[in-house]
Amino acid sequence: MVHLQDVCKSFNVGLPNEIEILHHINFSLSRGEFCAVMGPSGSGKSTLLNIIGLLDRPTHGQLAITGEETTGLDDQALTRLRGHAIGFVFQHHHLLNAFTALENVMMPLLGAAGFPNASIEARAAELLDSVGLSAFATQPSGSLSGGQQQRVAVARALAMNPALLLADEPTGNLDSKSADAVFDLLRRVSREQGTTVLFVTHNPELATRCDKTIQVVDGRVI
Ligand code: ATP
Ligand code: MG
Repeated sequence: MVHLQDVCKSFNVGLPNEIEILHHINFSLSRGEFCAVMGPSGSGKSTLLNIIGLLDRPTHGQLAITGEETTGLDDQALTRLRGHAIGFVFQHHHLLNAFTALENVMMPLLGAAGFPNASIEARAAELLDSVGLSAFATQPSGSLSGGQQQRVAVARALAMNPALLLADEPTGNLDSKSADAVFDLLRRVSREQGTTVLFVTHNPELATRCDKTIQVVDGRVI
């Protein structure tokens, strides 16, 4: 489902040499696996997630997503694969505040193959219902609580029915009750839909409730 082989990532920060942030990462996730990523601030967790999410490219090594080797793909092919295989929940949810919860969830579906315009609103409403937010569908997303906004972001990430859901500290800014609700939602998606979930958390208690935990320290998986 996800397979990284000897993945390295360097950034050019204007110094004579690039700095390597991720060093020779190897691991695999199988279908439906629910995995936490932990590690100190600055250790490379977001960099790793961005690479697996095809938002950034490794500088060395191989990455396969849903059996497709990505290293040789051009930008257009990467965008296509990302669009149909991967959902991403960002730490700061990146919703469009002035648009309603429903409109935010509809956005990835607009113009997407396989989702005729007439069915998009119904599909988005169903997704909002699945995250327990039907009652808030017509409210601007900016007026919702942090936990509710994060659940809208999860619904939006699930819109295209991705095989892989990546979430970068989706519970980081939430009180423990809202964090639990978002965690339970991810867990349920993984169980019920067979979605592979990889999420970054600083909360060791949540990590113990996952199938597997990956520890990133100084850009290495230990
Ligand atoms: P946190 O827990 O604070 O979110 P993190 O583990 O997600 O930290 P990253 O954001 O992956 O850490 O950053 C790892 C290192 O890579 C940091 O030293 C950061 O400064 C560096 N880095 C990340 N992105 C870039 C970039 N585009 N250019 C240069 N350096 C970068
Ligand atoms: Mg980070």
